[in-house]
Amino acid sequence: MFICPICGAHARTRTSRRLSELTIRQYHQCQNLECSETFTTLNSVEKLVTKRGRREPLPPDFIPKDAFPVSHYGRDQLNLSL
Ligand SMILES: [Zn+2]
Repeated sequence: MFICPICGAHARTRTSRRLSELTIRQYHQCQNLECSETFTTLNSVEKLVTKRGRREPLPPDFIPKDAFPVSHYGRDQLNLSL
């Protein structure tokens, strides 16, 4: 959870957009009704911390396309009822 850069109140993450394989932009809204500022943050993989030997990246087809329901891909995943 991020803090609003304007008033310091807690902000709620509203949505996110993938910018690359390792970076997403998150959109947040301040929960202080008198402020309600909306701002973005970037969330990126910084480094790998697991102490293992160097490994090759997994091939793109490592997880078969039919391993998860269609609702786990694309914009449909944002429409899941809570
Ligand atoms: Zn605020």
